[in-house]
Amino acid sequence: MRALLNDAANRAIDYIENLPNRRVAPADAAVSRVAEFVEPLPEKGTDPAAILAQLDDIGSAASVAMAGPRFFGFVIGGSLPSSTAANWLATAWDQNTTMHRITPAVSTLEQVALDWIIDMLGLPRGAGGGFVTGATVANFTALAAARHSVLEAAGWDVEADGLFGAPEITVLVGEEAHPTLTKSLGLLGLGRNRVITVPVDSQGRMRANRLPRIDGPTIICTQVGNINTGACDPVASVCEHARPASAWVHVDGAFGLWLAASPTRKDFVDGIGLADSWATDAHKWLNVPYDSGLAIVRDPATLRAAMAITAAYLQMDPSVRNPADYTPELSRRARGVEVWAALKELGREGVAAMIDRDCDLAKRFADGFREAGYEVLNDVVMNQVMISFGEAQTTESVIRAIQEDGTCWCGITQWQGRTAMRISVCNWSTSAEDVERSLEAMIRIAGQITTAGRE
Ligand SMILES: *Cc1c(COP(=O)(O)O)cnc(C)c1O
Repeated sequence: MRALLNDAANRAIDYIENLPNRRVAPADAAVSRVAEFVEPLPEKGTDPAAILAQLDDIGSAASVAMAGPRFFGFVIGGSLPSSTAANWLATAWDQNTTMHRITPAVSTLEQVALDWIIDMLGLPRGAGGGFVTGATVANFTALAAARHSVLEAAGWDVEADGLFGAPEITVLVGEEAHPTLTKSLGLLGLGRNRVITVPVDSQGRMRANRLPRIDGPTIICTQVGNINTGACDPVASVCEHARPASAWVHVDGAFGLWLAASPTRKDFVDGIGLADSWATDAHKWLNVPYDSGLAIVRDPATLRAAMAITAAYLQMDPSVRNPADYTPELSRRARGVEVWAALKELGREGVAAMIDRDCDLAKRFADGFREAGYEVLNDVVMNQVMISFGEAQTTESVIRAIQEDGTCWCGITQWQGRTAMRISVCNWSTSAEDVERSLEAMIRIAGQITTAGRE
């Protein structure tokens, strides 16, 4: 066992150390070897050392260096050293994070991490929440509390009696809401399409002055951190609009919520503390390993009402916070331990510095592309940048060539009818040199393709 786990640790450390030096996208030859994994279920067992060796030989080489400093696709963070280490140790603990009584250490660490985040992001004191797999489930979880609350106020117990015959709930979402938000509404029986869509501005921000008049049970879903532009809905104005009708305001802040940790950028998310619930990821901008998100609610009783269960065998001690009272899952891993470790490693100042550094590096990308004559499609004030290399087809070709080159990795998107390359800077280890090296490669590749196109 010791030899095996030491071997695993050594191979993992080699992998991590090599992240800055290797190709970001794996070579085709390495990817083609994943076919070796495809075999019938073995009749007999295999030596664990051989299993690990096979995983490393084929899997490590075929994996995309997402955790590395020059992966700018989607919105994907890496893993801070302490959070990777904490993840390894917590895996050894293998705690079923359900009841405080049987998991005193991890339950306490989660409570501490949750309180730190509430403090750091300026959310209301006394708020509660649960550690879930990511912002998708965080949206679902928080909106389940919202559904409970607005129907309870209308005299309806949705957990007991379901939605058939319930008072109607009006749901407002911005035109640029993330698809996982709409999916969550669908899972909750509120409908993906049975929503009122609020128009947005050129950056994808909800236009608060276009919110319809509201009364009756209402949930308004806002977003901070548009996946393309990084832009944030005007949450303060939305909350003002919601208050007279006692509407529930939810904030999908998968990565954007972390702007609140930066003294110089927290104005972008002004008013988030006035909302009723928040969904965020820890595996994006906080840089903890997958999978990790948080659902936070102003009034923890609403989330407990939606999530808590009782059973004679569980023996939940009501005088403490039992993790399972706040999440869709009963049994789950102790993912809050990594969040705690990351926050402890960075401290308030370190988180702010990481957010600011990533936003500054995004701006450097935008400036570099502009200087080279390419068009930046969004106002780059956060960590997201969109670049056009001209016609849609040209942009597609450049992105493909950049991915094949391997120096860095960026994805593709559509923004207001245009095809664009999307850059997201949210890794703790991305340096100014990484950005210069990536810019040099991308501009060189784009130059070759756009010149060839003109000939
Ligand atoms: C990434 C993202 C999500 C989904 O998060 P997962 O961690 O993939 O579940 C939801 N909303 C927004 C705004 C996002 O950026």
